[in-house]
Amino acid sequence: MSELPGTWFDGRSSRPQPVRLSQPAPGRLRLAAHAQTHEFDVRQLELSPRLGRMERILTVPGQGQVHLDDSPLLDDWLPRRDRVERWAHWLEGRRLVALASGLLTAVGAVLFFTIGLPWMAVRVAPLIPPAVERQIGDHALAIVDLQLRPSRLPAERRAALQDRFAELVAGLPREADYRLDFRYAAAIGPNAFALPGGQILMTDQLVELAERDEELLAVLAHEAGHHEHRHGLRGALEDSAVLVVIGFMFGDVSGAGSLSVSVPTLLLQTGFSRDHETEADTFAFVRLRDVGISPEHFATIMERMADHHAPGRKGDGEGPMGYLSTHPPTPARIAAARAAASSSD
Ligand SMILES: [Zn+2]
Repeated sequence: MSELPGTWFDGRSSRPQPVRLSQPAPGRLRLAAHAQTHEFDVRQLELSPRLGRMERILTVPGQGQVHLDDSPLLDDWLPRRDRVERWAHWLEGRRLVALASGLLTAVGAVLFFTIGLPWMAVRVAPLIPPAVERQIGDHALAIVDLQLRPSRLPAERRAALQDRFAELVAGLPREADYRLDFRYAAAIGPNAFALPGGQILMTDQLVELAERDEELLAVLAHEAGHHEHRHGLRGALEDSAVLVVIGFMFGDVSGAGSLSVSVPTLLLQTGFSRDHETEADTFAFVRLRDVGISPEHFATIMERMADHHAPGRKGDGEGPMGYLSTHPPTPARIAAARAAASSSD
């Protein structure tokens, strides 16, 4: 009869004693030490999983533990609990499987960042209280304002545009949030952007570039689209989740502490995604038609901005941020605006 040698720590005496394991009958296991012999039903015993070449530990109810070298005999004697363990062992030896699982992890990570995070952000953003969103926006505003100067437009001009903007957003679900302000921004030039919380900034340079107020309202309708769709908040949530995940991956969870600072910065650096721009454009075209303004004005101001930022390049130019630094090529957006304008005729 085959035997396996082991060392028995019986849990009563501190001294380990040598023991021999054998199988007197299927489903039974015998432990023979120098002065005593015990027999067990294998279903009472617990064997530690096989991990490489590590020794196995057999736990015997009421009798402590037996440590022994791994042996194929253990599989014959204690076959019942091996399903997971055999599978783990099988995996261990297979590099292809390891490679495949590595690949799966990478694909999973990519899917998580590209689909999972935006999916979650869409659902989480509406749950964030307006006061918190406003706070994130104020934070972002403070950072943006480092690069901007107070508006030099006459107060009446600003008030007139604010009034027309109020008409534009009247009745929208998030109407109460909106604030329109102006800034002088020589380095940035004609531009406008929406911050989380409903704050919209327009540069004096854009006001001066426009030939009609409808062009500015077209831009503002686009910015309102960002706010109605909560793009700023969703972007901030996605970026902060990325930071937290990266923090965990590299063991720097303290990175989460600087989150409140990083979020607005990231938000402004990366701008809105291609999808968000298209969504905001679509919103703007519908809204403009609702209030009796042709989306054609959006096309006109986009062309003029593109020409300003990159003269002669017919809208392929990339501005420093906002409208022209975002992904959808400007000509495509202009064409979409013209299509929306002609479909309303
Ligand atoms: Zn936009």
